[in-house]
Amino acid sequence: MFRISGARLLVLNRLIASNRVKFAGVLAADLLGIRYTIVRFDPVMACNLRCGMCYFSDETWYRENVGSRFTPEQMTRIAEIFFPEALQLYVGCGSEPTMWKGYPDIVGIAKTKGVPFVSLVTNAQLLNRAAVEALVGHRLDEITISVHGTRQDMYESLMKGAKWQRLHDNLALIDAVRREKNSSLPKIRLNYTVNNDNVEQMAELMAVFGQYGIDTIQIRPIADLGNTTYQDKDLTESLPVYEAGIRRLQKECAQAGTVLLANLTDPLFEQNNTQSVVYENAVLRYVSPQRVWVKDYNPQQESYQTLKKRTGFRKRLLRWVVSGSRELEHTTMLTTSKVL
Ligand code: SF4
Repeated sequence: MFRISGARLLVLNRLIASNRVKFAGVLAADLLGIRYTIVRFDPVMACNLRCGMCYFSDETWYRENVGSRFTPEQMTRIAEIFFPEALQLYVGCGSEPTMWKGYPDIVGIAKTKGVPFVSLVTNAQLLNRAAVEALVGHRLDEITISVHGTRQDMYESLMKGAKWQRLHDNLALIDAVRREKNSSLPKIRLNYTVNNDNVEQMAELMAVFGQYGIDTIQIRPIADLGNTTYQDKDLTESLPVYEAGIRRLQKECAQAGTVLLANLTDPLFEQNNTQSVVYENAVLRYVSPQRVWVKDYNPQQESYQTLKKRTGFRKRLLRWVVSGSRELEHTTMLTTSKVL
């Protein structure tokens, strides 16, 4: 397979403003066998927690969605189909990957298949030494850990079922195993979802967790994920506190060499994000036991190439290259999901 580095493609994506040109790039990559997809993979629809801002706290959603999982054989098939084309793989996107027995093996398979960037997105509560050693051994690139409070009571009340001490123990464990194996990987990313109750605590992220060698802090304003137990979803009144907190974090992250990713331009999600059109319609492959990329795709019975042909994937790309993608832009605004 022809190779181009993931970092270069991402830089190209930022430099190119035109969605038509981007769709043309995707079409070319698909025809030439260049990696271009971002695979978001949930091996199991389950979580050990019931976070108040998450659909796992919505009883109706829970009843209708939780419980399905891939078998190891199905997992192998998914890897055969999607990993050779993947530039990036995120394991655990809308669900908790450590609930899938043998989850470190997914990282190992992805690395064997040459996926340049592999990330595990987790609440970190179920990690243990054997798993962390396996992940470091497989050269996992990044581990993203959800942390929605910087003090015990807030953390444990927003992340129902999680234990504050276990979070600290497991952050220390990852950092210790990295040192023992003389590895800079996985990078540790903290993911903090901001609401009106935890917005003040957000500024303390580096003070509380900086000791564990945090590489990236990502701040996400709360998004509406349905009938969740946490219902106070309008951040408007907290914006001054939010902005002040980000400014403090900017200083502390700069001093520590930590990357800060924070939404300062549109924290209330009021603008139409036309940048995500190509990502959502051509680059993203969301794979879970409920849906393998597109509706009704059964990877045990149909090849990936046949699927692309049957669904007119390349024809659609060509149409968006030639005629533009205005019709997609409104839809994208309505359907963009927010990863927890
Ligand atoms: S936010 Fe993450 S950890 Fe919390 S319930 Fe949802 S999937 Fe589980």
